[in-house]
Amino acid sequence: MSSLSTPREGLLHVVPHLFLGIELSPFDSSSNKSTLLTSESGRNWAIAPALVEIIRAIDGHRNTQQIIEVIAPHRSLAIELRLIEIIWNDLVDMGIVVGCDEVGLQYSSKQESASRSALSLRIPLFPPRCVLAISKVFQYLYIPAIAWVLVVFAISTQIYWGIHSTWPSTYATRIAGGRWLAVLLLVGIAYLFHEFGHTSACTRFGGKCGAIGFGIYWVYPVFFADVTGAWKLPRMQRAIVDLGGIYFQCLCVSLLIIWNYLKPSYAVSMAIFISNASLLPNLYPFLKMDGYWFLSDITGIPNLMSILENLIRFDLSGIRCYRARLQSIIYGYCLLTSVFISNIAIALFIGFIS
Ligand SMILES: [Zn+2]
Repeated sequence: MSSLSTPREGLLHVVPHLFLGIELSPFDSSSNKSTLLTSESGRNWAIAPALVEIIRAIDGHRNTQQIIEVIAPHRSLAIELRLIEIIWNDLVDMGIVVGCDEVGLQYSSKQESASRSALSLRIPLFPPRCVLAISKVFQYLYIPAIAWVLVVFAISTQIYWGIHSTWPSTYATRIAGGRWLAVLLLVGIAYLFHEFGHTSACTRFGGKCGAIGFGIYWVYPVFFADVTGAWKLPRMQRAIVDLGGIYFQCLCVSLLIIWNYLKPSYAVSMAIFISNASLLPNLYPFLKMDGYWFLSDITGIPNLMSILENLIRFDLSGIRCYRARLQSIIYGYCLLTSVFISNIAIALFIGFIS
């Protein structure tokens, strides 16, 4: 991380530069933070108008003092210090600004901003061109008439499965060793199809998609799809991209249910059970998974988790920019998330000591 290690006077003469590929674009949300800032690495932030003004003033020619004079001509010393901190701490750490002072001291982010995600060990399996080609085929599953028919089909097959399936322990013991590989393969295909659900929705609405790959989310192995281009879409389209993975995974499971109906198999039954078991946790809004992003997009509150982090530090600044009704949703979300995380922590502690 960078820090203000040189005197304020020295920094005032440094010319900050924006990294190539930094973009400001309109953002559909419920707050007055209506601008989306996109870094070269594809990371996005919903930012306040005051920060937009600062970024627009950084033109690669003005030094810090001239930028501050443009933004706040009648400033106090405290405001001047805060603006220096924003430019040379906050924006540098975000990977937005880079600079070099007269003694050659570099100011640049030492941490790749995308690596701050909870997802680590990103191994691409399908490059962006391949993802785009496949998503262009599957995007037709989002034509409203086709989508409604398929949703009814998926719900019907799940109801049939719920009525006719038995508890998995009854067939888990009857799957021979080698057959477990078939179970893993079928589950893997359902999870991969899930990721193409996100990218196909994003492609349908004109959003840019990156790679699909394999990574580690905290400690769990997962597939991931890069749909950061969806941030530039309207809220309702973003919400469909969020649920697209569940939609595609349910369709894949429906095909397995039909397969199992035509040719009953313990391995296929187990694959259906495992795939279905992952659907509900995926919809929890308390972790940054599909349910979290759906809640975030449907309410137009893009930073629920950081608002919660600020609340823990008694900082209400992230909440005040929302209307009273949305503030109630935020407080409710923060309360439920705190209860959820506390319960997990207590369960882990009890498990650890017993
Ligand atoms: Zn998903």
